[in-house]
Amino acid sequence: MITLTIDHRIFAAAILSDGGDFISRAECPAPAGGYRDWLVAICDLVAGLDGALPHMSVAVAVPAIISGDRTEIMPLGNLAGADLRRDLQSALSREVFLTGFGEALTAFHAAIGKTEGPLVTLWIGSSCHGGLAANGSIVTGAHGAAVNWAHLQLPAPVPHELDGRPCWCGRNGCVETFLSTYGLEDDYERVTGDRLTAAQIAAATSSNDIVAESVIQVFEDRLGRATAMIISLIDPATIILGGDTPMPERMCERVPRKWPGYVQVDRSNTRLAWCDAGHGALLRGAASLASARRGG
Ligand SMILES: [Zn+2]
Repeated sequence: MITLTIDHRIFAAAILSDGGDFISRAECPAPAGGYRDWLVAICDLVAGLDGALPHMSVAVAVPAIISGDRTEIMPLGNLAGADLRRDLQSALSREVFLTGFGEALTAFHAAIGKTEGPLVTLWIGSSCHGGLAANGSIVTGAHGAAVNWAHLQLPAPVPHELDGRPCWCGRNGCVETFLSTYGLEDDYERVTGDRLTAAQIAAATSSNDIVAESVIQVFEDRLGRATAMIISLIDPATIILGGDTPMPERMCERVPRKWPGYVQVDRSNTRLAWCDAGHGALLRGAASLASARRGG
């Protein structure tokens, strides 16, 4: 099985064995051009994988909701409105299965099988995504949108969070405008005038950059409110954070301390854990879902 992730800044591809081990991996930066340039880059990436055989299908994880064959709420402008599955199948001359980031991350963890009870996974990167599993099975919802939290309003906003900050989706004040790497970078730039990456902001907290420390603390509080909303609605046993969450170990330690003021039960025993597999989790999760669909 060939597996692929398409994200804002980087494309990653791999070949997985039937047992789920990586046989080969490659990645490339997302090209600066338009849709056709992206398709060409994806074809080149897949063609360069060692061990690709003609009969292999391609599992593709994209940062969107997949409803049938359609991609919805797609933050990547180059892919918005495109018939991505059809075009990739044509360009690659291979069968293509599309999966959303949230579903792929959940499939990866559900397949590991180390979690008991309802499982929620949350991807925080340049965009936000979520997924749900119960009794070891993926729950996509009626429209493929279960736990896609990105474009809900940030819960319990304080006055300065009601500044109408616009989201690419057309709404204002979405969770994603606060709890993405871009949201963090925007916060830092708003105070300092300097644009650092989320990773640079996280690193700056250990060098007495009080603005970096402040925006990370605000991020923690916002993540506490957003995850408390999810706990109140779904009551998961475990929430797993993935993607490019800044300072993830610190988040898993401190965010649960925010919950008592926001969750609806007296005390939450929900476990917050970090997935350090990065895009590798999406590659594996998308492949396992595609294998199940192909088999079905
Ligand atoms: Zn939005």
